Amino acid sequence: MKSLTILGATGSIGSKALSIVDAFPEHFSVTALTAHTNVELLARQIAVFNPRLAAVADVVHAERLKALLPKKNRVKIVCGEEGFVQAATLEETDIVLGAMVGAAGLVPTLAAIDAGKDIALANKETLVMAGPIVMDRVKKRGVKLMPVDSEHSAIFQCLEGHSHNRVQEILLTASGGPFRESPAECFLGITPKDALDHPNWSMGSKITIDSATLMNKGLEVIEAKWLFDVAFQQIKVLVHPQSIVHSMVSYRDGAVIAQMGVPDMKGAIAYGLSHPDRLPLEVPAPDFFQIGKLTFEEPDLKRFPCLGMAFVAGEKGGTHPAVLNAANEVAVAAFLENNLSFVAIPEVIETVLDLHQATEGITLEQILEADGWARETALQQIRKQER
Ligand code: NAD
Ligand code: MG
Repeated sequence: MKSLTILGATGSIGSKALSIVDAFPEHFSVTALTAHTNVELLARQIAVFNPRLAAVADVVHAERLKALLPKKNRVKIVCGEEGFVQAATLEETDIVLGAMVGAAGLVPTLAAIDAGKDIALANKETLVMAGPIVMDRVKKRGVKLMPVDSEHSAIFQCLEGHSHNRVQEILLTASGGPFRESPAECFLGITPKDALDHPNWSMGSKITIDSATLMNKGLEVIEAKWLFDVAFQQIKVLVHPQSIVHSMVSYRDGAVIAQMGVPDMKGAIAYGLSHPDRLPLEVPAPDFFQIGKLTFEEPDLKRFPCLGMAFVAGEKGGTHPAVLNAANEVAVAAFLENNLSFVAIPEVIETVLDLHQATEGITLEQILEADGWARETALQQIRKQER
């Protein structure tokens, strides 16, 4: 029996993880759940899973949550970053599932590692911002870090039992998003509604927009670099519209190992929590006769410049990836609020990256400072565009 803290329990990944806990009560229990502002769903989750602690964004939401719970309940309610850290470091917790969206996941995840917790990580932004620091602490503390991102779970599985020094390339697949076939002229008219309509995956809004710009794949390239300790030149992105091959690893003897499945995050979440066991999830295997063809294309960096920018920021290292990530978060939020056009998302990010004066070496403080600077600078750029 493993006890879990779920950071970001009310999100797409968090809710799916809870459905796995629900289906396997003999394997998992819940010690803490966190959410940002969706206290209604969090209250329902608390009633079902009975955690000891719950954390939300601030005092206002903590009060709202309290009001939704029965008078006599055992849950302690905390809030803010300090509250998320408490949830991530509870003594009874064995595994912390990092399923928050965005930079907010970094500090609680690091705290969990320092507290000796095993980590199942969906929150790729944590590794994008601070890959070297996270991996260093994982090693020093001797905790297990399991990828939950479907591609990285696939790569992990393709690497299991093989010699790491014989890896030729990591072949990271991408669905291509809803605009894979749209001509560049059409990009000008893309609305949030168009971009939120992902062909294969149902996910939170931020990652869905990232999938439409291919920034998601860019973030995943940096995530893969740190998780699997490979050079950026060894990571190749393949557009694979069927999303059946979740990713592949090619070896020096010409062999390529692929991991496949239907596009359902349940498999990757469950494997992240139960490894090396494979739970009987009752997710069907792909119906290959029905699918017929698996196809692969080269990504178009002209229409999707975010992917190229992520490679460059990743190669530069230091605080560049954190700046890329923060500018992207701000630009995506502005796009979702109809304050920025789709084509301006990469423009804002590029300008912020150009303005960034990187520092040598990186500490957590420098990363957080660069993150704050990039957010402010991105907002300024967006205001300029509005005028
Ligand atoms: P989501 O928007 O559905 O959920 C996000 C969760 O984080 C919610 O519980 C929300 O309350 C919480 N949250 C949001 N902002 C917060 C903040 N500032 N502080 C604390 N908590 C906050 O997102 P999602 O789709 O579940 O994605 C979560 C993470 O997993 C992301 O990093 C995403 O890139 C990654 N991921 C998601 C999928 C997917 O299929 N959804 C697949 C791979 C990776
Ligand atoms: Mg992914």
